[in-house]
Amino acid sequence: MRGRLLAALLPLYLFADAHIFVYHRFGDSRHPSTDTSIETLRAEFEYLKAHDYKVIPLSQLAGALKEKRKIDDKWVVLTIDDNYKSFYQNALPLFKAYNYPFTLFVYAEAADKRYGDFMNWRQIEEASRYGEIGLHGYGHRHECRLSPAILENDTRQALHSFQTHLRRRPQYYAYPYGEYDPEVKRTIASFGFRLILNQNSGAVNAKSDPLDLDRIALTGENLIAQKLKIQRLDTEWITPKHWPNGGRLKEIHAKIAAKYTSAQYYISGGGWHRVRVRNGEVLEKLDVQLPGPRCRVFLRVGRRQNGIILVKE
Ligand SMILES: [Zn+2]
Repeated sequence: MRGRLLAALLPLYLFADAHIFVYHRFGDSRHPSTDTSIETLRAEFEYLKAHDYKVIPLSQLAGALKEKRKIDDKWVVLTIDDNYKSFYQNALPLFKAYNYPFTLFVYAEAADKRYGDFMNWRQIEEASRYGEIGLHGYGHRHECRLSPAILENDTRQALHSFQTHLRRRPQYYAYPYGEYDPEVKRTIASFGFRLILNQNSGAVNAKSDPLDLDRIALTGENLIAQKLKIQRLDTEWITPKHWPNGGRLKEIHAKIAAKYTSAQYYISGGGWHRVRVRNGEVLEKLDVQLPGPRCRVFLRVGRRQNGIILVKE
């Protein structure tokens, strides 16, 4: 009986979905598209608390993925890109008050050169007492446009600066602008990061690739309740993987679980469209001019979704 009960519960554990959110600025109304007001942040923290979500450090999720331990549906990881001063001034006090861990992804050049809107290394070091610090590139470049050699240089420079100021090696990397392709991923992965994070608006389960973890952006109005409903659709993307020739997308080809008979696909600017699934294979011929310079393609079945980003090189 007990064994059967465990067996019945096991798939739930294995396929449970954690959520990694990404913020940028806080309480900075000059930049509404990347800002989260402090009232909204507080409302989100209250929502997480009231609904028994566990805000965990990224390292805990990394450990569970590596050791194939249970991923908990109630796990939430909070990340912040770009080390804006508004995080340090407006949001860090709230993270401390709620005792919520976070991972701050540092744009190293901005800290090195003390760009006006950004935290300097001393402030980042102070933040590291309450959260983890990851790397967000040196020059915050559009990495799909860089040759592997230039991207390697940017990453080496970022690592050097990070290690000089924080005296440790970063274990996590988040792509600037969330932009990447298979070559960018290969170059960044060659530096041995434990996790690499994108911004593809999906959840994380035991089948997620630690070097390609989906994050969901949380800016503007309070959408956290809705975004916590997103689950991961395990997807093997076959085409597209890159910006297509001339920006004309000719097919969507991917593999999902064989139990699904129908799915929907989405292309930025084009809405959702139903597509048939045969033996777990999605194959849709089309001829669509993609809006540049970047475009998202999603597959969805119910609440499960999986997306990729295509970037004009
Ligand atoms: Zn950024």
